[in-house]
Amino acid sequence: MSLQEPALVVIGGGAAGLAAAVEAARWQPGRVLVLDQAPVLSVGTCGLPYLVGGQIGDAQKLLLHSRQELEERGLRLFTECRLESIDLANQRLHYRDLARGQNNNLPFQNLLLAPGGRFDFPGGHLKNVLAPRDLVSSLRARAWLRQPECRRVLVVGAGYLGLELAEAARFAGKQVTLLDPCSRILGLVGTLHDTVLRELARHGVEWRQHELMAWEGERRAQLRDGSVLDFDLALLATGVSPRHPLLEGLALERGPLGGLRVDRQGRTSRARIWAAGDCCEIPPRQGTRPVYLPLARPAALLGRAAGAASMGQSSSFAGCVPCASVKVFELEVGWVGAMGEGDRYLSDGPLRAAYWSEPGRLQLCLEFCPRSRRLLGAQAVASGEVTSLLQTLALAIDQGLDFEALSDLDHPYTPPLSGMWNGIARTVRSSKRWA
Ligand SMILES: Cc1cc2nc3c(=O)[nH]c(=O)nc-3n(C[C@H](O)[C@H](O)[C@H](O)COP(=O)(O)OP(=O)(O)OC[C@H]3O[C@@H](n4cnc5c(N)ncnc54)[C@H](O)[C@@H]3O)c2cc1C
Repeated sequence: MSLQEPALVVIGGGAAGLAAAVEAARWQPGRVLVLDQAPVLSVGTCGLPYLVGGQIGDAQKLLLHSRQELEERGLRLFTECRLESIDLANQRLHYRDLARGQNNNLPFQNLLLAPGGRFDFPGGHLKNVLAPRDLVSSLRARAWLRQPECRRVLVVGAGYLGLELAEAARFAGKQVTLLDPCSRILGLVGTLHDTVLRELARHGVEWRQHELMAWEGERRAQLRDGSVLDFDLALLATGVSPRHPLLEGLALERGPLGGLRVDRQGRTSRARIWAAGDCCEIPPRQGTRPVYLPLARPAALLGRAAGAASMGQSSSFAGCVPCASVKVFELEVGWVGAMGEGDRYLSDGPLRAAYWSEPGRLQLCLEFCPRSRRLLGAQAVASGEVTSLLQTLALAIDQGLDFEALSDLDHPYTPPLSGMWNGIARTVRSSKRWA
């Protein structure tokens, strides 16, 4: 093992980078180096909004693997080391050791880029405008929410993260406004969107369909229509793009969506340079058009394949059927595939037998290709079981199941757990087209 000559240097020890590094270290233990600016790695990022709100009380619970465990798996960790620039021609990295206050160089043979996506942070200079995206910023947001004088919280961005942060701030007992210019939260169709809006209102979240233009002083947000919103704490959840500033200007091909172009083994356009995670467009499950899916599972799956490939192994990323789900107070909300111009069918009914004491409720929208009648996408809003439903529908999309196949799909039935016709069967059997 040589410190000077790691077989692979991984930039970023997040979901993609750590998956890659752990896989690579199976083949070359001790010769895989992970460089990250954060003090602690292997943090369950997806749990951070619940740490912010206090639903998860102990931050230690989000530390998935200790430093010692990672080192035992054959990783060398350079934490608190911020990469400043990459010299591809001379195969050198320039980084700053933040703890020691030193600038250093590091040569590399093979490089795996996983620094995440680009997050634009207007208002980052204001102490009460935070983007809780890592452990340190999430603990800071939590400390703010614990202050009694912090009463009004503005959450900017109504994607899954904004919804989770709005719930977190309500959990902490704050007055919450959720701001986003989009006309439909999560792109939800028809009554599914209405149900989510009602759930937010029922739990005291004020929804404002507006665009943030600027900060006026420290406690006021100016909106596009000239109106203003006063707040004590603003939490930003405005989403990421693939263009991480560190990678700008590098001679690496990008795809049509602006992300690094990689193959199913995470290879970029340049030999010995791999990439994975939110900085990449990823090969689709089917077809040839890449997708941009800044989510944990695609990052880890492609990272794992890239880590193996960088060690000469033949592991390959199969692609993902795009899907996501989020808890919105007492609702589960999710989508899979793509909703567009297809034929839509909607059902709204009980999750279990209607006569059961707590029948629950499921609203499901399925969209089919008008020509082939294959399932293209789905959205669901329910009091439970959305994730398993979407898993079935993801499989249906992947396997090319059509309307008829879905109407024949079997499932177990017992009144306390399911209806005689489950949501999928009910939606296709209703055979009522809905737009
Ligand atoms: C709060 C939050 C909640 C989320 N919840 C979910 C969820 O429920 N489900 C889901 O699927 N996805 C979720 N995501 C998205 C998911 O976490 C990301 O898609 C995934 O982490 C991307 O992996 P990555 O490795 O590309 O980037 P990251 O995990 O962001 O890792 C990038 C790493 O690179 C390091 N880095 C960046 N720049 C430098 C530099 N210059 N020098 C050194 N190191 C650097 C960072 O410190 C970081 O550790 C969530 C994201 C956030 C922020």
